[in-house]
Amino acid sequence: MMEPIEVLLQKAEIAHGHMCAGQILGVRMALVGLRGVRIEDPLGTDRKRLIVYAEIDRCATDAIGMVTGCRLGKRTLKFRDWGKMAATFVDLQAGRGLRVVAFENSRDLARHLHPEIENKQQQQMRAYQELGDDQLFRVQRVHVNVAAAELPGTKADRVLCSRCGEGINFGRFEEVGEERLCLSCAHPELCYWTAE
Ligand SMILES: [Zn+2]
Ligand SMILES: [Zn+2]
Repeated sequence: MMEPIEVLLQKAEIAHGHMCAGQILGVRMALVGLRGVRIEDPLGTDRKRLIVYAEIDRCATDAIGMVTGCRLGKRTLKFRDWGKMAATFVDLQAGRGLRVVAFENSRDLARHLHPEIENKQQQQMRAYQELGDDQLFRVQRVHVNVAAAELPGTKADRVLCSRCGEGINFGRFEEVGEERLCLSCAHPELCYWTAE
């Protein structure tokens, strides 16, 4: 069901805008994850079963999204901003989860494998195609409790923040006394913007 890795890499390159080590790592990470939860047709018959949690926003994340078909806009790609080259693949139907983490020493491996290639990016791209899955990734079976409200297609009432009046979806508000506050009004210290 899955297309060959060469085809996936071509598609990843087009979607991402360039070929890079992250595309190779991401495509392979996604294939390991899908195989681990036994999802064979993520873009077709299995598309409603899969959720992916990405723990980093780098090149590889685009490749993971492309291979799995999971996207932020579909609520099937969940971003956890933890700065780790890791992703968790969840089969909702079977209740299976697999977390895949790229080993910390993959760049060293690439250097040892191809000392003759001076360009680091080229060196990594080559090595990441040649190394085995178990040389590149650590995998762990995990259980992920995906709350009903986090699933794609959830219909939730829209609430207006009592303070700023902006609409809030998916229950992302806090009740403070009589008020329902959006998260930026409830926690101004965590808000990423300040008014000019
Ligand atoms: Zn890239
Ligand atoms: Zn507000």
